[in-house]
Amino acid sequence: MSTTRSASPAGSLFADSVPEVSFDNLFLADPLGEAFFGSWLGADYPAVREHFAALGRAGALAHPFSARADRETPRLETHDARGNRVDRIVYHPDYHALEDLAYPAGIVSRKYAPDFLARHRADRQLIGFGAAFYFAQTELGLFCPICMTDGVGWVLERHPPADAAGREAARETLSRLGHPERARRWRGAMFLTERQGGSDVGANAAVAEQRGGRWILSGDKWFCSNVDAEAILALARMPGAGAGTRGLGLFLVLRERPAGNGGTIRIHRLKDKLGVRSMPTGEVTLEGSEGYLIGGEGEGFKRMAEMINLSRLYNAVGSVAALRRGLLEALAHGARRRAFGSRLWELPLWRACMADLQAEYLGAFVLVFEAVRALDRSANGDETAAKLARLLTPLVKAQAGKLGVFGVSEAMEAVGGNGYIEESILPRLLRDAQVLPIWEGTTNILTLDVLRAVQKERAHEAFFDRLHRALAALPPEALGGRGLHRYIEGRLRGDAERLAALQGESEANQQRAAREWLESAGRTASMALLLEAAAAPALREPCLAALRRLQARPFNVQPLAGSAAVGLADTEEVLLRAGFAG
Ligand SMILES: Cc1cc2nc3c(=O)[nH]c(=O)nc-3n(C[C@H](O)[C@H](O)[C@H](O)COP(=O)(O)OP(=O)(O)OC[C@H]3O[C@@H](n4cnc5c(N)ncnc54)[C@H](O)[C@@H]3O)c2cc1C
Repeated sequence: MSTTRSASPAGSLFADSVPEVSFDNLFLADPLGEAFFGSWLGADYPAVREHFAALGRAGALAHPFSARADRETPRLETHDARGNRVDRIVYHPDYHALEDLAYPAGIVSRKYAPDFLARHRADRQLIGFGAAFYFAQTELGLFCPICMTDGVGWVLERHPPADAAGREAARETLSRLGHPERARRWRGAMFLTERQGGSDVGANAAVAEQRGGRWILSGDKWFCSNVDAEAILALARMPGAGAGTRGLGLFLVLRERPAGNGGTIRIHRLKDKLGVRSMPTGEVTLEGSEGYLIGGEGEGFKRMAEMINLSRLYNAVGSVAALRRGLLEALAHGARRRAFGSRLWELPLWRACMADLQAEYLGAFVLVFEAVRALDRSANGDETAAKLARLLTPLVKAQAGKLGVFGVSEAMEAVGGNGYIEESILPRLLRDAQVLPIWEGTTNILTLDVLRAVQKERAHEAFFDRLHRALAALPPEALGGRGLHRYIEGRLRGDAERLAALQGESEANQQRAAREWLESAGRTASMALLLEAAAAPALREPCLAALRRLQARPFNVQPLAGSAAVGLADTEEVLLRAGFAG
């Protein structure tokens, strides 16, 4: 399902010089991915295979539209011809073409369709994220609105508003989110970050007040992606509430309900972004926007965290999707490109680099989809899986986000100069991937969240239990010895001991050391899960090969604040001051 053609006619001096790479279907171009999804979904897989193939085809077709929508970015029109304030976004038609590839293929709506849920509720997220993974390999810009559209649905479905008007608003929203027909489709957004802080949500200052039994929101929001979305979840401080996240409420704000509500959402300007440029991110003021309260008055942050956690999985899936596309492009290029009389594939050092990258990708892929599968089990009532998902979600988002940027950059280098040129997808992919470690929690913030999951919920117990069980899936005899099992068991022991030792440190030193722990535990988890996957005959060879390479690579990206950071705390001030004297 892929073609690699020479840009020059056969027989010409330049035949094969710059191979042209294109794909008809990104799912069908990925037999290994299919083997993973097939092994995870078992008997249910044949019934959903066409969904994967539809989004694989959409992903392949999206490329030229994506490239143009990235160049011809959305524009803000603040006023109409008569000077009335309108605050509307004008998109290039190719962005709408991208939406028409993704939404009618059911990228969101399939996950909410009653017939789908009746049969596949147990694997809802695995199927949804698995298929979406193939679209994300081309278009991470629109993937962000898709993520937030699903996120709004996820929260509304689980927490319908208490009052009748709110319940009716939620019901209509759920029936329209990501609808296949453009005219009926509503899209989602998340208005959380304010100018004074994205990570420190407790500092949020936008307020809610009650007027005549209705909730009215006012205040500034600093990063609002998919800014003209029809259904927005927004955080606002409740009347009389103190500082911190406990004082926040979560509101559903609908652009068209009540009529004219969209006119209260002032869009001041669009951000001029490094990447994900096809999709508009705005700076906004809510000027008396009506909203419907979701959950209890002080529960806003808890409810928003559910959307954030789903978005973190989207983010992690987007990261492995970018890496997979980078690898696909580099490998397809290297299969034809010649240097020093050989194809790149035949050059020992090039091969070794690509093998390491493929091993990294497989390690991240199984880790990210383990988090997705844990969410499925948790949503179906498994409390241990809920703890596992609690720890894995920030962990995989952190690991995959870093690896995505590193991996796409390596893939670009593996293609060489032709990969740096905008006719290749790689420059856009690299720009787009760079948002993934930032949006929905930077690596530091995720590290602190993992620490909280350990300290408050003892989530590491579910984590270690799950990985020990993974090792039992493939008996050592099947590998001709215990070596690999022993190695991973040793890592699990080491990670558990380091975590225990960490608890005895001061809070400041726990934070300093936690990032390295996260990287190590993430690596151990990837290895245990690859070993488990190797129990399936179709996956054995590549998973074991990846494992052997990962064994020789202790970290996917060498961490900042490594093991020496605690003992080196006294060097911090002088070095920071050497960089900026204040
Ligand atoms: C393209 C794009 C789209 C976005 N879309 C949205 C959106 O739709 N809705 C929305 O609500 N937000 C959105 N955001 C905002 C995004 O989620 C925030 O930028 C992000 O959460 C980081 O917050 P901040 O930018 O305020 O950085 P800060 O919170 O100021 O953090 C700055 C740096 O300090 C570090 N830091 C902060 N606290 C700590 C700590 N305690 N310990 C160690 N390090 C720390 C962080 O890791 C980071 O490196 C978007 C951002 C981008 C770039």
